[in-house]
Amino acid sequence: MAELKLQNLNKIYDNNVQAVFDFNLDVKDGELIVLVGPSGCGKSTTLRMVAGLEDITSGHLILDGKDITTMPPKDRDMAMVFQNYALYGHMTVYENMAFSLNLRKENKNVIHEKVLAAAEILGLTDQLNKKPSQLSGGQRQRVAMGRAIVRTPKIFLFDEPLSNLDAKLRGSTRREILLLHKRLKATMLYVTHDQTEALTLADRIVCMSMGHVQQIGTPLELYDSPANLFVASFIGLPPMNFFDMKVTGDTLCGSDFKVSLKPEEKALLSSYEGKEITLGVRPEDIDEGGQIDLSVFSNENLGQTTLVHGHAGKIKMTCKFRSWCNYKAGDRIKVSFRKMHFFDKETTDAIRQSK
Ligand code: ADP
Repeated sequence: MAELKLQNLNKIYDNNVQAVFDFNLDVKDGELIVLVGPSGCGKSTTLRMVAGLEDITSGHLILDGKDITTMPPKDRDMAMVFQNYALYGHMTVYENMAFSLNLRKENKNVIHEKVLAAAEILGLTDQLNKKPSQLSGGQRQRVAMGRAIVRTPKIFLFDEPLSNLDAKLRGSTRREILLLHKRLKATMLYVTHDQTEALTLADRIVCMSMGHVQQIGTPLELYDSPANLFVASFIGLPPMNFFDMKVTGDTLCGSDFKVSLKPEEKALLSSYEGKEITLGVRPEDIDEGGQIDLSVFSNENLGQTTLVHGHAGKIKMTCKFRSWCNYKAGDRIKVSFRKMHFFDKETTDAIRQSK
């Protein structure tokens, strides 16, 4: 069992920089939570407060009902996997993985069994006698994970574990972490700036900006119903397109194009009649054919899809079509929007059905 509650966590550093504001999260047993956001948004600070590597300025951390806010890191029963692997260069893979258990003076036979079991899970059985310098980056990262696994901690903490790997290895190591999570059924907190990692790994995502939690939800919730402009622009690749539009009856009028609203959309926007809102449309929610004129300026074939960048009047738009297209710069095409997101211009919050 490992349930973790982060209650009203705040972090103010000595230089008076407030890195985290009022962070609240209930992590369920066995859940994989991904903290995602741009560099400097407070992800690592939050993780380090959980690990006990940073003091908590105010708030509480509760692990399985026990307040561990001021407990020293070594007593927290958590294992952290770092971006730079933090392996001991003079030790073999085996010794690296056994290190913390030796420190705890565990029985040698138990240590041996645990190291072999972890090596088996991670495909490192043949590498146990090598030194880290003889391994690839991906293998080193697996040794770092092995060191965490042998400790059978209550909670695994990952701090950007894949950022030193090349794109291909990132993909395969990501899948290994996912399998590891399924196999160990462990509670995991994982920090990354990469929205793809968040979408592919998380049971739930916590999206942060400038020290504030912006939205907590499943990957689909954040993708499908972003709570505000920040989440809408951060989650999804290529990013969502945004347009300034005025609500006029059953039409949204922009400076260069108009779109008609379905009855339920008109109802949703009824209190914005005559006002400006921000319209968000994902590139993959734009179809070829329709009422909006687009002047193409580039065509990128990605295999089964094509990214088409164009201008609707002065406004830039990126479309992701599900076919191989061969548009040339200067081609004029028509497009339409399949799904639209609406945001309040002042608060930047998504406009939702009032409950
Ligand atoms: P992230 O992990 O999202 O990149 P961090 O948690 O590392 O962000 O940093 C959040 C903010 O706190 C940043 O503004 C950063 O400059 C600041 N910060 C981080 N560590 C320290 C520190 N030890 N002292 C002062 N400010 C810090």
